[in-house]
Amino acid sequence: MIHPLDLRFLGHDHTIASFLISTAEGPILIESGPHSTLPALEQALAQHHVQLADIQHVLLTHIHLDHAGAAWALAQHGATVWVHPVGLPHLADPSRLMQSAQRIYGDDMDRLWGEMRAIPEAQLHAVADNALLRFGEVELRAHYTPGHASHHIAWQYDDVVLTGDVAGVRIANGPVVPPCPPPDIDIEHWRDSIRCLRELAPRQLYLTHFGRIDDPLAHLDELETRLIDWAAWMRIPWEAGRTAAEVVPEFQAYVRQQLRDQGVTDEEVLAQYEAANPSWMSVEGLFRYWRKYQPKTEVN
Ligand SMILES: [Zn+2]
Repeated sequence: MIHPLDLRFLGHDHTIASFLISTAEGPILIESGPHSTLPALEQALAQHHVQLADIQHVLLTHIHLDHAGAAWALAQHGATVWVHPVGLPHLADPSRLMQSAQRIYGDDMDRLWGEMRAIPEAQLHAVADNALLRFGEVELRAHYTPGHASHHIAWQYDDVVLTGDVAGVRIANGPVVPPCPPPDIDIEHWRDSIRCLRELAPRQLYLTHFGRIDDPLAHLDELETRLIDWAAWMRIPWEAGRTAAEVVPEFQAYVRQQLRDQGVTDEEVLAQYEAANPSWMSVEGLFRYWRKYQPKTEVN
């Protein structure tokens, strides 16, 4: 049984989740959430009569701060952290990860994300593609699913997949949108990963942003369509040589209109979408994607 825990990021409901699974070997978590929401994680666990120190294992989908930022704190309480091998060195020494976050978020780091400390290597385990982890009777299989991040893992638990960010962001039954932050966005890899998720034929998905999806195939089709749409939208200003800063307000308006067209009119839900998946990050991420991709299109 999977228990989604609402970490109430920046005071919003249904924006960032962590997932609690009880096993015969004790409770485990998929995603730690950011360090800034550690008190909310502690409270949510308490409702299930679990303390931070009870968590023996934390399985991460990727190392972005909204997913992995509090992993070190759980490690300090004794947890083992399971992560893609490319992400592992950045948890053993988070200085580069935090420097690049600092460049982006500046003075807002503490409010948004909190701090990040090194996790001792003995508590970090690299996970191979297709690896099967067993905790008592609970089995979780790792599926490498790049596209949003090069080091992304989707975790399969029976016929359910916990998808991190590779199956997009969907809040309050609104439309699904693809989070496209720098530096790794790769549309082709992402589409391959969506295909991988389809082939698993899951009964349900659990999104970190936010919660359960009961119609995975329709959801994944919608995600792929919107991913292609956003990439194509971004290509035009990118090719025109415009700056990301100029384009952000236009893209934000475009996304808001898309959400409105799909029936999202509640200002709080629009704010939850923007908190879980800021438009300016997607502009940066997709501009970077086109910058990387451009030489290939010129050759062809
Ligand atoms: Zn995320």
